[in-house]
Amino acid sequence: MSFEPTVEISRWALTRLERGHLWVYSSDVKRVESASPGDVVKVVDGRGWFVGRAFYSAESQITLRMLTREDEPVDESFFARRLDFALDMRRRLFGESALALRLVHGEGDLLPGLIVDRYGDVLSVQTLIQATDRRKDLFFDLLEARLSPRAVVVRNDAKVRSHEGLVLESGVARGKPPGTSSIVEGNVTLHVDPVGGQKTGGFLDQRENHLAAGALVGKGERCLDVFSYSGGFALQMARAGGRVTAVEISEKAVGEAEKAAADNELELDLVVANAFDWLKAASVDGHRFDVIVLDPPAFARSKAALPNALRGYKEINLRALQLLSAGGWLVTCSCSYHMSEEQLLELVLSAAQDAGRKVQLVERRGAGRDHPALLGVPETSYLKCLVLRRVD
Ligand code: SAH
Repeated sequence: MSFEPTVEISRWALTRLERGHLWVYSSDVKRVESASPGDVVKVVDGRGWFVGRAFYSAESQITLRMLTREDEPVDESFFARRLDFALDMRRRLFGESALALRLVHGEGDLLPGLIVDRYGDVLSVQTLIQATDRRKDLFFDLLEARLSPRAVVVRNDAKVRSHEGLVLESGVARGKPPGTSSIVEGNVTLHVDPVGGQKTGGFLDQRENHLAAGALVGKGERCLDVFSYSGGFALQMARAGGRVTAVEISEKAVGEAEKAAADNELELDLVVANAFDWLKAASVDGHRFDVIVLDPPAFARSKAALPNALRGYKEINLRALQLLSAGGWLVTCSCSYHMSEEQLLELVLSAAQDAGRKVQLVERRGAGRDHPALLGVPETSYLKCLVLRRVD
């Protein structure tokens, strides 16, 4: 190639890349030569030596996201290979017929700024950075050629896009408006709305944890799903024979849970309430549950928000432990990237002490296997899910 937009990075940025990270922050950029927003650029060090090729963003604090350290062209066939590699992993783990899966997990699949979720024969796509946004049509073409979806929906209403100077929008990119998609989780059928649902339509990262929670439940046991959205955990626990109460603040989500319960001929006790108030009242009233799931939204959206968030997590975990019967199970989740698994464990211990309970850690889980974390990029792993049991 005769001419190529080029970005020179600092020594420190190079060290970070060598440790496995893919990002270079704007403060580590020394020189930008003729790069336009969303370009693929050549990355060089202070001596001008080739470091790799990366997506360039003119707006974000994250100026570069590395694509390769090889001196290879980044073209259509490059992206096709990356996509095929990601699809191959899902095929091996979940088979051809898996209906609800994350097919591309951004940096975790070495496709920075691109998310592709499959809900039945509908694909829900996020192009979160300038470079993937500019190449939308290429990604849609590659996806259509491989998967022949009925529709491709874009869910570019994710707030992170504003850091890139991109507008927030969602809609149907290919095919007709798809309505809802039916997906199967274990022995439960769910209806997902890729255009109108939260995130890309649902919480795929919790799919395997829904099943794991269901497996804990014995017939007739009292179960509680707090922050239940459309009932992902609640329905699995009901299918296992549990008597399930689900608490959720969004009436729309509760409506969807109600419909899903009816379609699956399951009974749920659905409560529209603020979980904090509900948990407090239930513990004052002396209610008891055998299996409790806590799956709150990210309370800590930034580092600065962490101290307050930790108080929130502590409060709900304390209440849950007070409500837990002897020998009962607590599945407690946090999707705050800024909070570590160690911090979650620490606050559960502190809540257990306050509640006068002893608790054993049975399993540490995270997002499903279709959300692979890239070692060296901690941002690709955010979901913690601990399976605990009350032992006294
Ligand atoms: N457990 C769900 C996902 C939960 S996402 C699943 O596996 O599919 C978090 C949910 O918490 C959202 O549906 C949101 O509407 C709800 N929520 C947020 N704040 C709440 C509050 N204070 N009380 C109850 N629900 C709340």
